[in-house]
Amino acid sequence: MITSKTYDGFEVGPIRPPSEAKSLLLRVTRNCPWNKCKFCRLYKGTKFSIRPKEHVIKDIDLVKRWTDLFKAAEDVDAQTRKILINDLKNELGEEQSWFYSSVISWYQSGMKSIFLQDSNSLVIKPNDLIEIITHIKKQFPEIERITSYARSETVVRISDEDLKRMADAGLNRIHIGMETAADTILKLVDKGTTKANHILAGQKVKAAGIELSEYYMPGLGGNEYSDLNALETADALNQINPDYIRIRTLAITDQSRLKEDYEQGIFTRTNDTKMIAELLLMIENLKGITSTIISSDHILNLLPEAEGRLPKDKEKIVNALKSYLDLPESEKIIYRIGRRTGIMNTIQDLKHSVRRNLVQGLIEQYGINNNNVDAFVDDILKNFI
Ligand code: SF4
Repeated sequence: MITSKTYDGFEVGPIRPPSEAKSLLLRVTRNCPWNKCKFCRLYKGTKFSIRPKEHVIKDIDLVKRWTDLFKAAEDVDAQTRKILINDLKNELGEEQSWFYSSVISWYQSGMKSIFLQDSNSLVIKPNDLIEIITHIKKQFPEIERITSYARSETVVRISDEDLKRMADAGLNRIHIGMETAADTILKLVDKGTTKANHILAGQKVKAAGIELSEYYMPGLGGNEYSDLNALETADALNQINPDYIRIRTLAITDQSRLKEDYEQGIFTRTNDTKMIAELLLMIENLKGITSTIISSDHILNLLPEAEGRLPKDKEKIVNALKSYLDLPESEKIIYRIGRRTGIMNTIQDLKHSVRRNLVQGLIEQYGINNNNVDAFVDDILKNFI
């Protein structure tokens, strides 16, 4: 692993989970230590490196200094406040002016949560991570949530004792990109883990008292393994009983290795309707899950309304999925184009005459029909990620 030596100022990585929109992003590592998943191009061409913990601590102290100044600026007159803020901006210089926007929006949102970046912060030495988390808590004792992405393969290598120490220090939510628990698909997409390790990692996180968010990717098994994707993933989730199951529909981007597999006929694309049927099969097979939130919070998902808390909302979620599947083909096309172009948000919008007319205008303009709608939607989706 590469560890950079010089401190080049506050850093931010490329992504965070949608649920961390209000979190301060604190970069502990750069890029992805695995970087092989065929559907993911996020860190393509980049090298993984660990930021020295001293640099991360400098970042935390910098944010602390700024948020203290924002607080102090609230108690002075407008003119003095302007001078204070200008001094800060000048000190930062043009290059890091974005830092000002990040910190002030975090300050204005109440400084409740911090997300540790990038793709797998738990890969660093447990003692270093604990020191970073402890420093966050020291500087921001009011913080309610410290969260991170982690790979299952990394979590299974961490001792239960260390995970508990991380939890005690203040790490209270981990996001794991399960995507699928079907071994056949995990291998095909080069996810670098197994169903057994997905289950073990999830159970370890829960046993440590850390909230767990698992991501499921409908469509990842293509048409051949669509049912397998649903059934194996449901089986793993039943054994883990996570706090959140987040739906993140597959989209194939031009630069991904999955696109190459698709072009060579190794992988087949499922369309929106097949993915909804797959999701329905997965949800119907969730059993014994207690108090888990199904979240459809990603723009790639066709039906944002298919969410709720299990077990009480299972019927509501199932009905939302069935409402789409029961639509006539012509209505499915209208909704798919409406949702993918941002004109519609839920199936209820099919009854909205203005939105409906807009979508029908597009369908006519582009000559969209049963034969070309999948290609049209695929083209739009790849621009979402
Ligand atoms: S582990 Fe995550 S970030 Fe890394 S390649 Fe796979 S999906 Fe992308």
